[in-house]
Amino acid sequence: MNAVGNPISEVIPESYKLFIGGKWQESGSKERLACYSPVSGEQITTVPVANAADVDAAVKNSAQAFPKWSETTAKKRQQMLLDLADKLVEQADRIAWMETANTGKPMRESIANVHTAVDRLRYYAGAVRALEGRVLPVTANITSYDHRVPLGVVGIIGAWNFPLNMFLGKIAPVIAAGNCVVYKPADATPVTTLEIAAIISEVLPPGVVNVVTGTGAVTGEAMLAHPAIRMISVTGSSETGRKVMKGVANTMKRVTLELGGKNAQVVFPDADLDRAAQGILLGAFLNQGQVCTAGSRIFAHKDIADELKAKIIALIPELAMGDPFNDQTRMGTLVSKEHLARVREYIEIGKKEGARLVCGGDMAKIAGLPNGLFLQATIFDQVTQDMRIANEEIFGPVATIHEWSDYEQMLAEVGSVEQGLAAGIWTASLSQAHTTAKRIQAGRVWVNCYNLFPSGASFGGMKASGFGREDAFETLFEFTEVKNVIIDSADSYRRFYG
Ligand code: NAD
Repeated sequence: MNAVGNPISEVIPESYKLFIGGKWQESGSKERLACYSPVSGEQITTVPVANAADVDAAVKNSAQAFPKWSETTAKKRQQMLLDLADKLVEQADRIAWMETANTGKPMRESIANVHTAVDRLRYYAGAVRALEGRVLPVTANITSYDHRVPLGVVGIIGAWNFPLNMFLGKIAPVIAAGNCVVYKPADATPVTTLEIAAIISEVLPPGVVNVVTGTGAVTGEAMLAHPAIRMISVTGSSETGRKVMKGVANTMKRVTLELGGKNAQVVFPDADLDRAAQGILLGAFLNQGQVCTAGSRIFAHKDIADELKAKIIALIPELAMGDPFNDQTRMGTLVSKEHLARVREYIEIGKKEGARLVCGGDMAKIAGLPNGLFLQATIFDQVTQDMRIANEEIFGPVATIHEWSDYEQMLAEVGSVEQGLAAGIWTASLSQAHTTAKRIQAGRVWVNCYNLFPSGASFGGMKASGFGREDAFETLFEFTEVKNVIIDSADSYRRFYG
């Protein structure tokens, strides 16, 4: 049930089809994926597992749409993206409700996610008008110019933690630049992507955006292998990133990878501890910690560690875990039973490794939602760098506190993990912030704030967090390639060699 008392399955369609060439099409495969609500525990819908023939049909429709779409003026593409953004704003509450139903994230976050996604569409609608080329005057009569051309069909594969804004945020620069898209949402959370596809069909020409649902092993692999997909952009775990790189080797696709993180928040003794405690909670527990940038490793200087810990624990009730459909709720459910089991396993590992459980560690009971996947905000201290919980991405509401006193050793520990996505620094000293930001290997560093994602600020990882940058102007470069043209206006090239 949701906050207004309707069973979720009565609001969401019983089943969905594939969105190919602007139409809803049955899959050639008879296999379907069941999708659940982690709030009520009920099955809410099923989606097809698109097979290689379905992916091929989507690619063909996309390739057919490409010549016309790529020749549409940037001005017209801009207008269509703005129209799409306006339509999404009109339906923001409905889409957000479906996001919460399928993911268990609080409504206030789902609504914020719709508006973030709308802002990405508007940003790229404008940014593409400024995508210019470059002229090199080689000699008086020979001119070289570079301009950027779209790639063609781009395959995009999404993760389950931010389904709707991942879909819109990832397709915005791709279609703005004149490409066509075949998009696969994550297995567990396809609902809002398919609902948004219906809105897209009212605005964009058929075939510009296609949605194929299914598993990574069947649908995802078929996309990696398809020879007419020129590029693959994936958001997922580092493990999946490795498979994707291998999977595209034969067809030589360009790749961008937005992968996992094991991110640190470093607190210096001069930090405003009240502000840091608030920010650390947001950093570690936003979306129940199921965020690639989750700042789950808290490096607290020993002089302030006890005080900071006390402040953080005192703030936990403010996380207001409860019915995700209630607009006061700040912490909802984990996404699925399988994922919950994985996160709980890490809590047991932490205990066995000798870390001390400071708070949480167990399921939470929420009135009226006996089957909801609510896991308490969990914090360990007495954590050392050799523990698995200090090194492996948990992707749930589990944070670890690490005390430090030696700056160089702290930096070494922060950097000792495989990934390098994001970091936070809490300090009153501007020079400390600059120096430390420079030394931490992460694609995004927040100073005295956390988990802000403004359009235009480049986002992406280092090391096993992947490569490529999203959300920024330069993202348009990832999805275009340079065409160079050299013109001789006076038959002077022979003299050029002479
Ligand atoms: P996942 O890696 O299990 O799946 C991601 C997507 O890849 C899914 O659509 C899945 O079906 C597909 N996939 C899996 N195997 C595949 C294969 N062999 N070939 C092609 N596609 C395949 O990740 P998830 O569990 O959905 O999401 C959680 C992970 O995503 C975490 O590691 C998280 O940090 C990461 N993530 C990263 C970012 C970022 O921007 N860096 C953002 C969100 C999530």
